[in-house]
Amino acid sequence: MPDKMQLLRAFFGYDSFRPGQEAVVDALTAGRDVLSIMPTGGGKSLCFQLPALLTPGITLVVSPLISLMKDQVGSLIQAGVPAAYLNSSLTERQYALALDRAWQGRYKLIYVAPERLESPAFLRFAQHAAISLLAVDEAHCVSQWGTDFRPSYLRIPHFLESLPKRPPVGAFTATATPEVRADIVQKLALHTPMVQVTGFDRENLSFEVRHPQDKRAELLSLLEGFRGESGVVYCSTRKTVEEVADFLTGHGIPALRYHAGLPLPERQESQERFAFADDGLIVATNAFGMGIDKSNVRYVIHYNMPLDLESYYQEAGRAGRDGEAARCILLYGGRDIMTARFLLEHSQPPEGVDPQLLGDLRAKQMERLQRMIGYCTTTQCLRAYLLRYFGEKPPKTCGNCSNCLGNFETVDVTREARAVLDAVESSGCRFGPGAIAALLLGQETEQSARWHLERLDVFGRLAGVPAKKVRAVMDALTEQGYLQHDAESPYPVLIPGPNAAALRSGSAAVSLRRARDHAPARRPR
Ligand code: ADP
Ligand code: ZN
Repeated sequence: MPDKMQLLRAFFGYDSFRPGQEAVVDALTAGRDVLSIMPTGGGKSLCFQLPALLTPGITLVVSPLISLMKDQVGSLIQAGVPAAYLNSSLTERQYALALDRAWQGRYKLIYVAPERLESPAFLRFAQHAAISLLAVDEAHCVSQWGTDFRPSYLRIPHFLESLPKRPPVGAFTATATPEVRADIVQKLALHTPMVQVTGFDRENLSFEVRHPQDKRAELLSLLEGFRGESGVVYCSTRKTVEEVADFLTGHGIPALRYHAGLPLPERQESQERFAFADDGLIVATNAFGMGIDKSNVRYVIHYNMPLDLESYYQEAGRAGRDGEAARCILLYGGRDIMTARFLLEHSQPPEGVDPQLLGDLRAKQMERLQRMIGYCTTTQCLRAYLLRYFGEKPPKTCGNCSNCLGNFETVDVTREARAVLDAVESSGCRFGPGAIAALLLGQETEQSARWHLERLDVFGRLAGVPAKKVRAVMDALTEQGYLQHDAESPYPVLIPGPNAAALRSGSAAVSLRRARDHAPARRPR
C-alpha cells in the first residue's frame, strides 16, 4: 500500500494533516464507517480524497451541488488524479461517455448527484465495479432536522444494499447538531461509525452578547469604535436593513446595503465595493454571505438574533478569516423572539418534505430557536456554549467572550416574576405584555376601565418598579418558559408556560442579567 504521507505531499502538496484529518483517513482506509463534522474550510475533501488513493478500487462521492463537484473534479485532475462527475449538467452523450470510461476503470474518484444512484445504467455499473469507498458530502441533507433536507439522500442506504459488497461509508458535514448527527447515522445506516468532530473553535474571534435598551444608539457607539475597519451588520429583515442603513448614513456613517429585495446590479455593486474596501461597512440580511471571501472583516454585528446557532456561527464566522483578532457581537432584545417566531411561522418548508412531518419540523425549528435564545441569555462562557452545541468538547471558560470577561451582573427578580405570573393568570390569560405591565404598575388604561382590572388583587403590585424592568422580567419569563405567547391567538397574548408551576410553587428563582459597560480585550489569547 502506498504511504499516506507521500501521497499527501505528491498529490495535494501538503506536509502535514490538519486537525482531525488523519484519524478520518485512517479509519476509512481501514474499512470503518465514519461521520466527520468539520466546519467549512476545515479540509473535509482531503478526508475522502486521500483514502480514495490509498484503496484499490473506485471511490464514489455523493454530492448535492453541481458547482462543488466541478470544482473538486477540476482540481483533482490538475493534481493528476483521474476523476469525473456524473450529474444533470452533462448531455446524454457526455454522460454515456463518462460512464463508458468508468466501466473501463479509468477513474479513481467519481462524483455523483444523489438522484443518479437510482438510474439503472449507473446501478449496473456500480454493481460490477470495485467500489472501495462511498463518501457522502453534505451529509446533513439526509436529515429532516437539518437545514437543507434532500429527500434523494434517503436512497443512499438502498443503493448500498444493492451492491454486492458494502464499502465503508464516510459521511461529511459542516453543520450537525447532536440530533442531526444521530439522524445521519440512522438514515444512512452507518455501521458503528467513528464520529469525529473537529475544529469549530475560532480562537481569534471574541464573542459578545449585549442587551441594549436602545439598539440604534448601541450600534452607533460600537461603529464609532470601528471606524477605519471593515465589518458586517446583519439584520433579520429587508426592512430593518433599510432602516438601519438609513439611520447610519444619516449619522455620518456611510453604509452599503445588501438584501434579496434589491435589484441584482445594486446587490453586485454593494458586494464588490465591500470586497475591495479596507474600511467597508455593509448592512445586510442573511442573503449576504454566499461567496464572500473577504479576509479582513474585523467585526460582525448582529442587529437581530438569527433563528438558530448554525446560522449565527456561520455569519459571525465571516469575521477574522485572516486569523487576526475580530469581534462577533450580538445585540439582543426581547422583541427578537417575536420576530424570530414570526419568521419561522411564515417560512417556506423545504421541498419534498412529507406533509405529516411538517409539525415535527416546526417543533424542531422552535427548539433550535430556544437554543439560540439560550445563547443570548446564558451567563456561562459563550464559546463553550457554541462549541457544545456543535458537539465539540469545550473549555469551561475561554477568557475571550463577554461572559468570561464578566460583562454583566445578575439581579434576582423572583418577586417581580411571581407578580407577573399572578397578573397573567388572575386577569384571565387574555392580555398582552403592555396591558399586564400597566396592570402591575397600577396604571389606569382603557383596558383596565373596560375589564375592571383595578379590582384585581395584583393591580399596582409593582407600583414604583421601573416599567422597563417589568418588561424585562416578562421577556425573561417568556424566554425561560414560565410564560409563553398564546399560539391560538392572533394577538400577542401571554399565557402560563410549561415551567409556570415551578414559579408558582416557589421552587424556581428568576434572575435578570444587566450589562456592565466594558469592552473585551481586542487581542486573542
Ligand atoms: P471543506 O470542504 O471542509 O470546506 P476543503 O476541503 O475545501 O474544505 O479545504 C479547505 C482548504 O484547506 C483548501 O484550500 C485546502 O487546500 C486546504 N487544506 C486541506 N487540507 C490541508 C492540509 N492538510 N494542509 C494544508 N491545507 C489543507
Ligand atoms: Zn468565554
